[in-house]
Amino acid sequence: MTVDSTERPLGPTDIVEVMQYLYTVGLNTGCAGNASCRVGRQKYLITPSGVEPTVLSPELIVRMPPSDATAVSGLEPSSEAGMHGAIYAARPDVSAIVHTHSPYATALACLRKPIPAFHYMVAVAGGDSIRCAPYATFGSKELSDNAVEALRDRNACLLANHGVLALGADPLAAAMMAREVEQLAMQYCIAAQSGEPVLLDEVQMKEVLEKFKTYGHRSE
Ligand code: 13P
Ligand code: ZN
Repeated sequence: MTVDSTERPLGPTDIVEVMQYLYTVGLNTGCAGNASCRVGRQKYLITPSGVEPTVLSPELIVRMPPSDATAVSGLEPSSEAGMHGAIYAARPDVSAIVHTHSPYATALACLRKPIPAFHYMVAVAGGDSIRCAPYATFGSKELSDNAVEALRDRNACLLANHGVLALGADPLAAAMMAREVEQLAMQYCIAAQSGEPVLLDEVQMKEVLEKFKTYGHRSE
């Protein structure tokens, strides 16, 4: 996938590229996962349901809401379209969402535990832990409510017995967040195999969160 720093409207190609990226790097397999991006305040583009990234193309991307006259792909939107819509409604700061079943993060989600502050990079998701939303059936309103709550003040969460949600200003940023969550989950699993990881305290994490406000910003 290409990294494009120029400001341009997001479109179906961005969704296809991000799904193929998640597939290529092993964060998703088969039809697992989905991705969306905003195209206006109330509208968004989303992957069709049950289509592998290997056969995905821009024409197959679905426009939401479905009543929109431009919804022409003929395919059903992702079964998680309601959850993506609920997140956009709750989070005006978010313009893209990716959902994965990435291996290590999903393994942790099956333990129904948050990723605690075992590493300072946990702060990349916006707080001192990456929460795990309670279990609900995929595609359900209950899952969508649980996800919105777990994402309060955060840009990522786990979904119990299911996977990961990662948010961003564009699909690439959301994918990088999903990759970071997977990396942290893998590190946590490895550390936990040899003992109880030592957690950073509230003060230490507050310091990191403060530093992240300016980290990586270019000085003009
Ligand atoms: P969809 O293909 O319907 O998006 O389903 C994949 C998934 O991960 C459901 O949670
Ligand atoms: Zn899923």
